[in-house]
Amino acid sequence: MSVPTDVLVIGGGATGVGVARDLAMRGVDVVLAERDGLSGGTTGRSHGLLHSGARYAEADADGAAACIAENRVLREIAGDCLRDTGGYFVQLPGDDPDYFAAKRDACRDLGIEVDVRSGSAAREAIPELSPEIERVMRVPDAVAYPSRLVAATAQSARDHGAAIHTDAPVTDLHGDADTAADGATDETITAASIGGTVDDRIVADHIVNATGAWAGECAALAGIDLKMSPTRGVMVAVENEGLDTVLNRCREPADGDIVVPHENQVVLGTTSVAVDDPDEYPQPERAIERMIDECAAMVPALDGREPARTYWGVRPLYDPTAAGEGARAISRDFFLLDNEERDDTEGFTSIVGGKLTTHRRMAEAVADHVCERLGVDAACRTADNPLPGHDDPAVLDELVREFDAGSPADRDVTGA
Ligand SMILES: Cc1cc2nc3c(=O)[nH]c(=O)nc-3n(C[C@H](O)[C@H](O)[C@H](O)COP(=O)(O)OP(=O)(O)OC[C@H]3O[C@@H](n4cnc5c(N)ncnc54)[C@H](O)[C@@H]3O)c2cc1C
Repeated sequence: MSVPTDVLVIGGGATGVGVARDLAMRGVDVVLAERDGLSGGTTGRSHGLLHSGARYAEADADGAAACIAENRVLREIAGDCLRDTGGYFVQLPGDDPDYFAAKRDACRDLGIEVDVRSGSAAREAIPELSPEIERVMRVPDAVAYPSRLVAATAQSARDHGAAIHTDAPVTDLHGDADTAADGATDETITAASIGGTVDDRIVADHIVNATGAWAGECAALAGIDLKMSPTRGVMVAVENEGLDTVLNRCREPADGDIVVPHENQVVLGTTSVAVDDPDEYPQPERAIERMIDECAAMVPALDGREPARTYWGVRPLYDPTAAGEGARAISRDFFLLDNEERDDTEGFTSIVGGKLTTHRRMAEAVADHVCERLGVDAACRTADNPLPGHDDPAVLDELVREFDAGSPADRDVTGA
């Protein structure tokens, strides 16, 4: 059967559901297809840190500004998809004090709230911290529960008329001269074959490739050459006895420098190693031990802990030097690839890179672009409307189950 729609969004991670929500709220007819459950890709395998931007402030002012802006928006709309813990950047002996000062100054320049405290003041607030800690900087980091965020965003899209399909892999993309919109050419990609629970052809005026680390494979179905450079990272969850603040080691980003607290566990991470295939890559055991050892420098009680859960994710990184014509770097962090301009393939757009924290902004950029292409004149409303279930964890976790969005990143919280 052929199902017509305005826009097909491929991929049900944070970016894809964000795009579906944004377009649906602007009155666009949307179908989303995800090959697994929602958040089955990187989103459900991330660290779950809602960045304040402090991590990037001294090196990437634009990226940091995007993080603090989205951090504030999500606090307004996402309720119990988040946990407002605040965060500390901690300086240990040997960590460069000039780096600490540069980060502090850059945060202040960007309007990211910073409060510098002595090591002893920090330990008074958080007794679990190492006595070695020399000073800390408090920033508005928070914890994000990706499964809840994705499920609530999908429900909002559905409330505005979007069809959300899980277990629905897109297996082929092709031109469809008979059913395409007026003006379609042979290079117009309008139709997608979908397997799994859908088993239909979707005929769309526009297709959005929001498949993250798999964007190259998805684009290849449309004959487009798009090379991703994914990197893998490991996360280790261990039991938590009272830590309730995100911790970042205040040094150049390195392995094992972030601790993200949930109520009963803390998630330690992470690493960054290039992989060829986002589905099959080595997962060395020693990386797990190293996470615990590194993070124990900030919280000594973590030393020797048994992992309660370990998981790996792959970053959807894109090499901008390979972007070519038609690639718009919205920030250094994410790219909207206009495949019409870049590859002469009409009706097709890819969105690559980014972070969980900035997914709403990425979605807004895509929706602006698609609406321009479709001649839809409607403004983004996603920053102003709270997500469904935002004030009730039980409702959120029911949505997680309904969309099969349970994932390793927050399984201890959602129980799904
Ligand atoms: C180790 C690690 C830690 C991270 N920690 C953080 C953090 O703490 N904070 C933060 O802000 N960001 C973090 N990130 C980054 C963040 O997780 C990602 O940038 C973001 O989740 C990507 O979302 P996405 O929707 O673009 O991709 P994904 O979540 O990967 O979604 C893409 C989806 O497309 C689906 N798909 C693929 N092919 C097809 C097909 N043919 N048909 C249908 N569906 C398909 C996949 O199954 C997948 O669900 C981390 C990333 C990693 C790897």
